[in-house]
Amino acid sequence: MNTIFDHKLAKGVGGLLPALDVPEQGIEKLVPSSLRRTHAPRIPNLSEPELVRHYTHLSKVNYGIDDGFYPLGSCTMKYNPKINEDLARLPGFANAHPLADEDLIQGSLKLLYEASRYLCGIAGLVEVTLQPAAGAHGELTGMFLVKRYFEERGEEKRKRILLPDSAHGTNPSSATIAGFSVTEIPSGKDGMINLATLEEALDDTVAAIMLTVPNTLGIFEERILEVTAMVHAAGGLCYFDGANLNAFLGRARPGDMGADIFHFNLHKTLSTPHGGGGPGSGPVAVAQSLVDFLPVPRIVKDKNRYRLDWNSPHSIGCIHSFYGNFGVILKAYAYLLLLGDTGLREVSENAVLNANYLQESLKQTYPLPYERLCKHEFVLSGKGLGEGISALDIAKRLIDYGFHPPTIYFPLIVPEALMIEPTECEGKETLDRFIEAMERIAAEAKENPRLLHEAPQYAPVRRLDQTRAARQPILTYPFNER
Ligand SMILES: *Cc1c(COP(=O)(O)O)cnc(C)c1O
Repeated sequence: MNTIFDHKLAKGVGGLLPALDVPEQGIEKLVPSSLRRTHAPRIPNLSEPELVRHYTHLSKVNYGIDDGFYPLGSCTMKYNPKINEDLARLPGFANAHPLADEDLIQGSLKLLYEASRYLCGIAGLVEVTLQPAAGAHGELTGMFLVKRYFEERGEEKRKRILLPDSAHGTNPSSATIAGFSVTEIPSGKDGMINLATLEEALDDTVAAIMLTVPNTLGIFEERILEVTAMVHAAGGLCYFDGANLNAFLGRARPGDMGADIFHFNLHKTLSTPHGGGGPGSGPVAVAQSLVDFLPVPRIVKDKNRYRLDWNSPHSIGCIHSFYGNFGVILKAYAYLLLLGDTGLREVSENAVLNANYLQESLKQTYPLPYERLCKHEFVLSGKGLGEGISALDIAKRLIDYGFHPPTIYFPLIVPEALMIEPTECEGKETLDRFIEAMERIAAEAKENPRLLHEAPQYAPVRRLDQTRAARQPILTYPFNER
């Protein structure tokens, strides 16, 4: 297309395909007839304005962090500076070929190396791999490290992973996929690990404990030093799930608490938009005793030159192609430079302040089963609010008030759980509007429960069959011809 405006686009011929740029002859050989279409695809014939309207409409029936408050607990749906997207798109970074010679990508290697150093500083651990693509992938990597550690020590009988009953579902999955069995430890009445229960579970078949700090109730394990010391004394390792790092960013370090392995969720804590399933990153930091087992290649610095080191005979191998999701790591790096240590401390301070403000206000109206000073999030119960009212009803009604619902039914130890995480980015006005909506919903639950059962009333779609929406999503146009 040479002109800036092609009249055909306004008249409904759909998109214009670029001209064929390979020889037409010989195509028989390149694409066997069995793989070729027998009839044209059913692509709607729309003009450019119609197409623009279609996508603009779709963007309006969606809800994102740029629309409003998004208190999805455990997900840390915080503001991610838009400028980081521009940085990740800089051609020098975005177009670098992953197989390029080291000499040509010194800048990218330097960025990865320095990002690793910052992450180690935050974790209080000595080395990190940037390869894992998400938190769950980091967990799996961590479990492989644990396995290799005990193999090298000839302690293969250590086959059990201890997990508090408040753990995220990915924890037992990762442990199981890596070949371990899982022993669940019930939480105490205070929502924390009970030391006597832990003592009972510990023996010489335990490989590691997996802990989320603060835990998924938003409560910091006050006896964390005792917990990790007990596991270490029994010969086990301590894995920390770092999904909740926003709660103590720049204030405390997992390494100082006894963690041997710690995963980051860069897409939660360090500036990558998520929620749509886009690329994530779950770097794994380790203590000295596990460094030799880290994935290859490792990025090392010799004087002023950076290179990839494949020479690591005890490594668990590669767990991602090349070096991980570079663009995500780049955004985390930019975010760290932008905020610096003072900024990071402000993040955790405001995240905790906002969560406690909401918790204190909402516990007047909603049951709060584990009542304590919370960290970045807290968990209410939707139980007993009104005739047949469930957490799902409350969540759906919040949509009518213009809010994204919180996480529901997790953690499993709270009945009708409503897990609320405001993040540091929200102002008091937003929090107050949310409190007001939650209070009105609690009143409606008593006076007119139908309003909740039938919610949402004002959303583009009413209540969906959630299982079918997840298992058989209709993702293609036209929607009505299925
Ligand atoms: C999000 C989360 C995970 C998994 O992380 P992903 O990046 O989504 O794979 C693990 N544990 C906890 C506590 C989480 O909140």
